[in-house]
Formats: sequence, C-alpha cells, structure tokens
Amino acid sequence: MKRAILPGSFDPFTRGHLSIVMRALPLFDQIVIAVGHNSDKAPMNPIAHRLEILEQLFKNESKISITQYSGLTMDFCKKQQAQFIVRGLRNAQDFNYEQPIAQTNLELGGIETIFMSSEPHLSHLSSTIVRDIAKHGGDLHSFIPEIPQ
Ligand code: ADP
Repeated sequence: MKRAILPGSFDPFTRGHLSIVMRALPLFDQIVIAVGHNSDKAPMNPIAHRLEILEQLFKNESKISITQYSGLTMDFCKKQQAQFIVRGLRNAQDFNYEQPIAQTNLELGGIETIFMSSEPHLSHLSSTIVRDIAKHGGDLHSFIPEIPQ
C-alpha cells in the first residue's frame, strides 16, 4: 500500500494545489491531504473552513482523505503509516526551502519526498497572492477550484 501525505496550509486551497493532487493521484494507493498548523503564517481561513472545502472538493475521490495535524510532518507520516510526502515546486525558491526539509525527513524518518513541478500556467499562483486579492475584494474564481455540486 503506497500512502502519501500532501501537507500544506491550503489557506486557501488553489488551482495550483488541485493540479498537484490530481497528478499525484495515479502514483499512490492513498493520499492524505493534511492541513498543518503553520505558526509562521497568520491564517485567513480557520482550519475548520479549510477542511470543509477540501471535504467537499474530494468527496467523490475514494483514494483521498482529509485531515489536520500539528507537530512534525515526519511524525505525522509515521502515525499514518505513510512512506511518502508530496510537495509542489514552483521555482528555485521553493526548491531551496524544501530540499533540506526533505533531506531531514529522509535521514531521520526514512520518508521519501516526491517533488512535482507546477504546471507552467500555475507557477505564479500562491495562497499568499490569493489572500491578498481576497483582502482587497478581488475576483478569486480563476485561482480557486470550483466546488462540485
Ligand atoms: P505550506 O504552508 O506548507 O508551504 P502551502 O499551502 O502554501 O503550504 O503549499 C502546499 C504545497 O503546495 C507546497 O508544496 C507548495 O509548494 C505547493 N504549491 C503551492 N502553490 C502551488 C502551485 N501554484 N503549483 C504547484 N505547487 C504549489
């Protein structure tokens, strides 16, 4: 059973995140989308709201489960018996941030991180930018996935 954790703040969950989830889906038996408590970022949406959106988005995907976690992602992977972490990479800045974390998770936890490059038309998209647009009352529909009815 190949189980991957897809951790993130997802504040909010964007079309960039969705692209990574859908492309990761064929690679694993199960994917756990895990909303982390990131102490470095002041949240726009409460965790409960982010979880609710994710539940609605993926209600028809039997391979995907949604949860929240705090603490080290490596420890959470062990609890979930997940061997993999999936992270999206938009640019070199993402890579420089992610590489030492992935190396630490491998060395200390034996957890492999699978990096997926963003689709070119989504590499500019970040939750930070979407939060800024939301704060100023901008139109978010091209950045945020539609909830299926
Ligand atoms: P974190 O707070 O852990 O960085 P985010 O919610 O910002 O969490 O992002 C979760 C993951 O999704 C990260 O691996 C991030 O690089 C990736 N990601 C965010 N936006 C995009 C995008 N537009 N394309 C590809 N990956 C993305």
